[in-house]
Amino acid sequence: MVEWEMDEYRKQKTQYFQFQRILQHLYLFQDTCNVYVVTKGNAAVLIDFGSGAILEHLSEIGVEDVYALLHTHHHRDQCQGDFRAVERGIPIFVPFFERRHFSQAELYWATKQLWDMYNVRNTYSTLIKSIPVQGFLEDFKKWEWEDIEFFILPTPGHTLGSLSIFGVIDGKQVVFSGDLLYSPGKVPTLYDLQYNYSETDGLEATILSIENVMRRNPQLLCPSHGAPMKEASRALHMTKENLTKYYSFRNNGLLPVNEQDVTQITPHLLAAEYACSHFYAILSDDSHALLVDYGSPNFALFSPVNIHFEQGETVRFVEHSIHRMMEKYNIKKIDAVIPTHYHDDHVNGIPYLQSEFGVECWVYAKLRDILENPYGEQIGCVMPFPIRVERTLAEGEVLKWRGYEFAVRHTPGHTEYAVSLFSRIDGKSVGFTGDNIFIKLHRTPSVIYRNHLESTAHRKAFQIFLEYKPEIICGGHEVQYNVTPEVYEKLWERAMQLTKHFEELLPDEVNYGLDPLWFQLYPYQSSAEPGDRLSLEIRIKNFYPHESSAHVSFILPQTWSCEPEKIVLHVDAHAQSTYHIQIRIPNDFKFILPRVALAADVVFNDWYLGQVAEAVVIQKSSVFPFST
Ligand SMILES: [Zn+2]
Ligand SMILES: [Zn+2]
Ligand SMILES: [Zn+2]
Repeated sequence: MVEWEMDEYRKQKTQYFQFQRILQHLYLFQDTCNVYVVTKGNAAVLIDFGSGAILEHLSEIGVEDVYALLHTHHHRDQCQGDFRAVERGIPIFVPFFERRHFSQAELYWATKQLWDMYNVRNTYSTLIKSIPVQGFLEDFKKWEWEDIEFFILPTPGHTLGSLSIFGVIDGKQVVFSGDLLYSPGKVPTLYDLQYNYSETDGLEATILSIENVMRRNPQLLCPSHGAPMKEASRALHMTKENLTKYYSFRNNGLLPVNEQDVTQITPHLLAAEYACSHFYAILSDDSHALLVDYGSPNFALFSPVNIHFEQGETVRFVEHSIHRMMEKYNIKKIDAVIPTHYHDDHVNGIPYLQSEFGVECWVYAKLRDILENPYGEQIGCVMPFPIRVERTLAEGEVLKWRGYEFAVRHTPGHTEYAVSLFSRIDGKSVGFTGDNIFIKLHRTPSVIYRNHLESTAHRKAFQIFLEYKPEIICGGHEVQYNVTPEVYEKLWERAMQLTKHFEELLPDEVNYGLDPLWFQLYPYQSSAEPGDRLSLEIRIKNFYPHESSAHVSFILPQTWSCEPEKIVLHVDAHAQSTYHIQIRIPNDFKFILPRVALAADVVFNDWYLGQVAEAVVIQKSSVFPFST
């Protein structure tokens, strides 16, 4: 049966292709999913699309012009007829986190892993053919049409990139919730709520998302399957309850993350120990708070993408904890958040804090560039969005905040771009140490080579921990109480041992075997079009106690050129050097694939390294599946 014959077949089924008027300016059209029509005069915005049969029927409700089509998620039942919208020139807007499932469908199918399946996420319902999209629906942002401001709330659950669209229609707060729930107490499927093998991750995501929808008090809930619900709060509540019971049953009585409370370590110090990376709140007596780190709600909701990336997906932040914590501890204002290091699990909630609560981001100087320019370096766990920085903190500075003092100290090891804060809170000495100390997990020292690692980095950090010996360690993934000085002595010894291992295992100057980025091109990712000139930097570290030289030439896509063509660099002993170059892309160059690589061929002193470093150039105009 071809598609139009299928329409003929379905026409005989009376429940399909009928309009149901929900509000004066809101209609439901039943297709493979509910298609919602928001009208203004003879114009309309559609939410989800099904087979697209609605286009043949819109005149029945007086709609002549479709301004746009918005999607709640990427499953085929929502969008299999989108090509018909494209034929009519209707602009399509899709969830930012699922854009590739719309615009790069063939690539999804060409690269989808089919064997050894531990990723059981339902991205299988992806379109079989790409459709061009006009734009994205971005989390926590507004999408405006006429006098309606649609608000986009991330509501992962049914899919990881699912969203709910809020808007006031005929005086009512309406939410188009996709497949978040089906009817009071029920979800459309359970199999969609499992991402990783045997896990309850999608279930927990749904519970959290339902709570986040509830908080915004919708008066009418419009699901993709099932009937619209006028008693929205009751429907959400019932579904949350049923899901929570099931979640708890599956996890031996454990409650989902939205039911968990922060720990009050001391009267003025709170820790979210359930969170993927712990975040901390320091409370002032005048009801203000200062946060240290703020990322994903817990590991289950951080890891689905982290473990099973598909097509260059990135971590997505979901609203959690802040409202509950502010209410319980009577916090009126969060003044600022200070990240201990740049890793995505510690910082991915910061843009949300900034936009929703006006929180400032205060950053240790060494972290600033990587937060503001995430495309710059190819190092571990970078979040793909720039973070706005309101204040820079210097090494050794004593930060004063509402009667507290925090010593700001550079503590490399886990990564070069890390800071620890030392303070006295409620009479206790406290250290916020990021990811340098993992006592419970026996993972100290933490070693990740691609975070910039030097042989004595951990020693530097543990020297500082020895200096302060905090009684309470507020670590990135654990809290330690009553820490004795002996613990720090032992950690210091382990840091010394680590350097010895490095020296035993690596030839010559050990740092060349530890830091893969001692020679790098910056920025690692650039975007450009034919005809552009690119500015790149060569960044080179000389670990030797004598001056070194490097001869560098570039290996480029054919017809590209580099100025200067051959480069000779001198770097002082124990120093870093930067050299600027320009790459020219000719006007007639054609990007066959939307990303190309270039490499630097290097002779360092007498050592012919070959093409030791590379960078990538992404075509600006492409919606490239592996870039943001
Ligand atoms: Zn679906
Ligand atoms: Zn971490
Ligand atoms: Zn980390």
